[in-house]
Amino acid sequence: MNPRAHVTLSIAEKNLTAKQNNKDAHTPQNVKSSEQFAHYVFNRDVVKLLLPAHISTHLISAMDGKTAILPEHADSIAIAMREWAMSYGATHYTHWFFPLTGAAAGKHTSFIDWCSPDKVIEQFCGSELIQGESDASSFPSGGLRSTFEARGYTGWDPSSPAFLWSGGEGLTLCIPSFFLSWSGDVLDSKLPLLRSNAAISDATLRLLKHTGTKASQVVSNLGFEQEYFLIDQDFRNLRPDLVAIGRTVFGAAPSKGQELQDHYFGTIKDRIMLFMRDLECEALKLGIPIKTHHNEVAPGQYEVAPVYERASIAIDHNILLMLLMRHIAVKHGLSCLLHEKPFHALNGSGKHSNWSLSTDTGMNLFDPAKTENALTFLILLTAVLHAIHRHGNLLRAAIGSASNDYRLGGHEAPPAIISVYTGEELENILTQLEEKGFYVTLASAKKLFAIPDLSHLPKDNSDRNRTSPFAFTGNKFEFRAVGSSSNPAFVIAVLQTIVAASLNLILDEIESEKTKHKHPSLLEAATPVIRKHLKETRPIRFAGDNYSEAWMKEAKKRGLPNIKSSVDVFEVIKSKETIKVFEGILGKHELTSRYDVMIEHYVSVMQIEAKLMQELFHTQILPVAYEQQRRLSKSILQATQVLKKANALPRQRAQLSVLSETIENALKISESLQKALAMTSKMTMEKRARYYSEKIKPICFSLREAVDALEMVVDDELWPLPKYRELLQLC
Ligand code: ADP
Ligand code: MG
Repeated sequence: MNPRAHVTLSIAEKNLTAKQNNKDAHTPQNVKSSEQFAHYVFNRDVVKLLLPAHISTHLISAMDGKTAILPEHADSIAIAMREWAMSYGATHYTHWFFPLTGAAAGKHTSFIDWCSPDKVIEQFCGSELIQGESDASSFPSGGLRSTFEARGYTGWDPSSPAFLWSGGEGLTLCIPSFFLSWSGDVLDSKLPLLRSNAAISDATLRLLKHTGTKASQVVSNLGFEQEYFLIDQDFRNLRPDLVAIGRTVFGAAPSKGQELQDHYFGTIKDRIMLFMRDLECEALKLGIPIKTHHNEVAPGQYEVAPVYERASIAIDHNILLMLLMRHIAVKHGLSCLLHEKPFHALNGSGKHSNWSLSTDTGMNLFDPAKTENALTFLILLTAVLHAIHRHGNLLRAAIGSASNDYRLGGHEAPPAIISVYTGEELENILTQLEEKGFYVTLASAKKLFAIPDLSHLPKDNSDRNRTSPFAFTGNKFEFRAVGSSSNPAFVIAVLQTIVAASLNLILDEIESEKTKHKHPSLLEAATPVIRKHLKETRPIRFAGDNYSEAWMKEAKKRGLPNIKSSVDVFEVIKSKETIKVFEGILGKHELTSRYDVMIEHYVSVMQIEAKLMQELFHTQILPVAYEQQRRLSKSILQATQVLKKANALPRQRAQLSVLSETIENALKISESLQKALAMTSKMTMEKRARYYSEKIKPICFSLREAVDALEMVVDDELWPLPKYRELLQLC
């Protein structure tokens, strides 16, 4: 029996069992979510309970990102952490960090140490908590570190709480950390993120001083909507492309895809529901506040979203959540695909990043409805628009990857044109401000300067324009172009860095207006500055359908780039302008290293895909295509002999000739792919990336078309790879 058929049968059984299990699944429901929450987290409550007041107060202030850890407290904190972790059965600890691959990494070290020649005891000291050393030679560094200077070190980031990770029936104490080379160069995305948090906080505090708003810190918040696909693990195991890269390199479109739109928000099937419940339960224990889950647009596609949190914690939690999703899916016989475009011609997956700024007193500065906030809001909004207008290409580069390139501009995904949607009502106000200034927005001519009343702006208008890559949604910005599989730390660091720089520039101009024209009020000084920048940023403000052809044309007219390949834009990461705006966050050589790593990663991914296509084509597709050809030829030959008519069966002959030509065509494309691949061996990494993007990618696409055409004519029983209809409509 074809292994596909075998899997189909076993899935029917699994679905039945899931139905039964779903009925019996009372365990997670019997425990309140609030009681499970943060069970495995060394959070403020635990700190208060386990440490003396003078230490816990300091540690909590460090957890809030307000102060650094005092070295004299480190030993006591380490002992408390170890004892807490061991009380749950933890045996190891690790500094948990993100090298430039974006994936989580850590070297697991046991707590044991010699206490006598024949005995060990568990220990963990302050210096081990604060700093770890690791052989960093196999992590990408983009030339920052040669292998003979392989040492890197990890440093504890107390602003993200330590937690226990369960795996292999054991528990490991994970200490969120940043990662540096021995010479102090940044080798991860966490440190730039933390620095960008400080930069945006400082710039915004400067603004709040002008507006008289009291705050000692400005906090950036993030809420991620994580999209993903679930397919059956057994089907996935039959597809080497899904196993290797999480994306199908071949696969004809199914007769029924997402056309009927019957999956979005639809009833969640039992097997999926069990997975979601399990995921939610484990995520809650790790302090990840999951709030919603639902079916997405494409069949087999789903979304999970926690409540927003402080930016760096939300990002750590997002990475943790992605790890959990993969682990828990396997437990349920499923495979979780986080790739941006696992299936051609169906929706891809994003990681909508909802971003806002609030004071440490809890006031959301992006909420225009609060009157005392309106001017702050308008200046901040102008800064965001200014930043995106000036550094749109940098943002495009930061979200860039081989995998996200497949998604951007595709089915229901934001295009590669970076624009901002502010909402109709707000856009009207901005246009008025831009054209006439603050004063005319008031009917009364007596009061020349007045801030417009923004309290009537609709809240939570996120669904009014789902097509924009960057939308203002009532009291937050939603950056939708971020890819589902990415570690969002660098993108958010870029966003915060450019907005902080633009805000500082705007404040410089406002302050100079104040002194130059002796303007008594902030409003008067800010008016010409805001007007100037609103005028300047008009091209990126767009309220229409971002998916439409008309927008592509209009954007071109406005001079906005539509950069389809990340390779064409990565260079911006090391441009003079970026180096300037990143001062204090990342240095020139650190930005260059990031560029090198992104280019290298692009090349590696594309190379794996191309090689995989060749392998699958020659070892799985061609043999069945030849078999089909052989059967058809034999059948025609035999039939002609029986019919004794030389030119009989013209349609069947035509069918054979189409099949043979398709095979020939596929072979020809595969040959040119092989030649193109051979060309790359002597190229520099940059040239190689360009060559993959411009030459090899289109050839791969043609090979895909040829193979997909074969899929439509080869006997279903022969076809070796699980088809889209099977992969997507099972659970
Ligand atoms: P949708 O965009 O589908 O309407 P929601 O409005 O539910 O989704 O919000 C999506 C995400 O935005 C959630 O993670 C939510 O916690 C987050 N969010 C809501 N308010 C804010 C805010 N002020 N700052 C950052 N994220 C927020
Ligand atoms: Mg959304």
